Amino acid sequence: MRVLLVEDEPAAAHVLAKGLREQTYAVDVAGDGDAAIFQVGTTDYDAVILDVMLPARDGFAVCRTIRESGSAVPILMLTARDAVEARIEGLDAGADDYLVKPFDFGELLARLRALVRRGRQPLLPERMMVGPLSIDTRSRHVRVRDVEVPLTAKEYALLEYLVRRAGDVVSRADISEHVWDDHHDPLSNVVDVYVQRLRRKLDRIGSDSLIRTRRGEGYQLVVGAPAP
Ligand code: CA
Repeated sequence: MRVLLVEDEPAAAHVLAKGLREQTYAVDVAGDGDAAIFQVGTTDYDAVILDVMLPARDGFAVCRTIRESGSAVPILMLTARDAVEARIEGLDAGADDYLVKPFDFGELLARLRALVRRGRQPLLPERMMVGPLSIDTRSRHVRVRDVEVPLTAKEYALLEYLVRRAGDVVSRADISEHVWDDHHDPLSNVVDVYVQRLRRKLDRIGSDSLIRTRRGEGYQLVVGAPAP
């Protein structure tokens, strides 16, 4: 899942981005409102974490502009004070949820998971099952036929994205947009390399062709029994 973190203080942004990346999120950082609005307009984020205290336009104004542009991206606001006016203003501006600084990182993760689950799609459960595969988005445990499959953070992020889009043919560009961040070179073959690795690990437990290659289109996580 790819998130945009909007925070002008470099130290705070660095710590938060690092923590989120350790939790398998792909993270882009915007240092002000204009950058945030531009990024949301050009990238299909799964969620935005938006600090209210920003130079020039504040987080409320940024949130309103994002909503006025027609984007329904889930937005989690970070407010500096636990004042009811601030919460009301945030929700009125179009935020989906808010968190008061200083916050517990575990709580931020839980709220982010909830927002991404709600997303712009039907509500998805914490534990998802596709054929012989089950993934727990909270503990990030993956099982195939009840056998645990150890995955790296990136392999897990890739699999979770494919599971959320199970049955769809997902293009390499989509995968790269949701699983990798701006540091990723879109022309590299890193997506294919990771799909191969993931496939090898899953196939080891005897779930052959769970991830199908659709030539010229991308990849598809097969729902139900693979066709003969
Ligand atoms: Ca700030």
